[in-house]
Amino acid sequence: MVRLRVLSVLAALIVGAASPGWAQETASETVPAAQPALTIATRVLPPFVIRSGDVYSGFSVELWQAIAVEIKQDFQWKEVANVKEILAAVENKESNVAIAAISITSEREQKFDFSQPMFESGLQILVPAESDGGLSFRQVWEIFTAGAMPALMALLAALILIPAHLAWLAERKHKDGLFSKTYFHGIFHAIWWATGASAGQQPDSPRSIAGRVMAWAAIPVSVIFVAYFTAAVTAELTVKQLQGGIDGPDDLPGKRVGTITGSTSASYLATHSITPIEFQSFQQAATALENRQLDAIVYDAPVLLYFAAHAGKGKAQVVGPIFKKENYGILFPRGSELRKPVNAALLKMRENGTFEALYDRWFAIDGKD
Ligand code: GLU
Repeated sequence: MVRLRVLSVLAALIVGAASPGWAQETASETVPAAQPALTIATRVLPPFVIRSGDVYSGFSVELWQAIAVEIKQDFQWKEVANVKEILAAVENKESNVAIAAISITSEREQKFDFSQPMFESGLQILVPAESDGGLSFRQVWEIFTAGAMPALMALLAALILIPAHLAWLAERKHKDGLFSKTYFHGIFHAIWWATGASAGQQPDSPRSIAGRVMAWAAIPVSVIFVAYFTAAVTAELTVKQLQGGIDGPDDLPGKRVGTITGSTSASYLATHSITPIEFQSFQQAATALENRQLDAIVYDAPVLLYFAAHAGKGKAQVVGPIFKKENYGILFPRGSELRKPVNAALLKMRENGTFEALYDRWFAIDGKD
């Protein structure tokens, strides 16, 4: 990129030096008109666009650099903040082309032209990696308030309160009854007795026949139920610990879901009645996830996978399958003459293996850090 820019500056200097005052009239006769450098809109989004200092790299950057050589076009980058601004830059003709991780959609196709698909992508979910084994108070609260858990807890209470009352009633008639005969004194003792029994302790046996029959029938039921309840809570805790309770888009309602302004993920969530928290950059969203201000990020799968394998390693993990497939394309203003040569260059790169080599460099399993 830097070399291309240097070449264009040199070319401009040479043309300028060779054509003083009368350059306007004679340039076209003596020197072939220099192609004006293209302006390429992009935005930083690893691994597609990475910037360190003034130098850009990444899959999309290197793809465009190779295409520019192929179509013999000089160019300069115009970096903007998000995909919304990319679309605006091309629509306002501030940029001739845009490349980053721009999804081809029917809505965008109405206003713009796209190249051949250059990358298969889709939407997926990123959640914090619970590798520290810790659970937030919010997650524990969710375990006891979501799904069948409130009903199970009500049943557990009933399995203690009903036998406690029956036992108190039965024992009240017996002269050496186990509990005090007044309700308030007696029932607390009876509840204590029933709780211990359901937790598998050996309680004092009731003195009355009715009380013994009742204990014989009720204690096994509540012991089995308490075991079931404990298993249900343990299973929920394990799932929550493994994946924050989110395994696919169906688990997202009611969660704090982050995504990026103007992205196809933001539209997907809006049409599925999930109000996302929007961030300008993926990095900001990832920081919010790390600080537990978000439960999940919905966004482009390759960006999430790259993050989980590099900067977010050990801190975040991708869960569930790609639930909406998308393709990336290079974006042009409607009717752009560049589209055909760019498509030809893309196809040629696919045919001669350049594309695959570039792909492997960024996405092979043992790819670069
Ligand atoms: N691929 C998504 C889109 O085109 C996200 C792009 C981005 O945030 O830059 O909407």
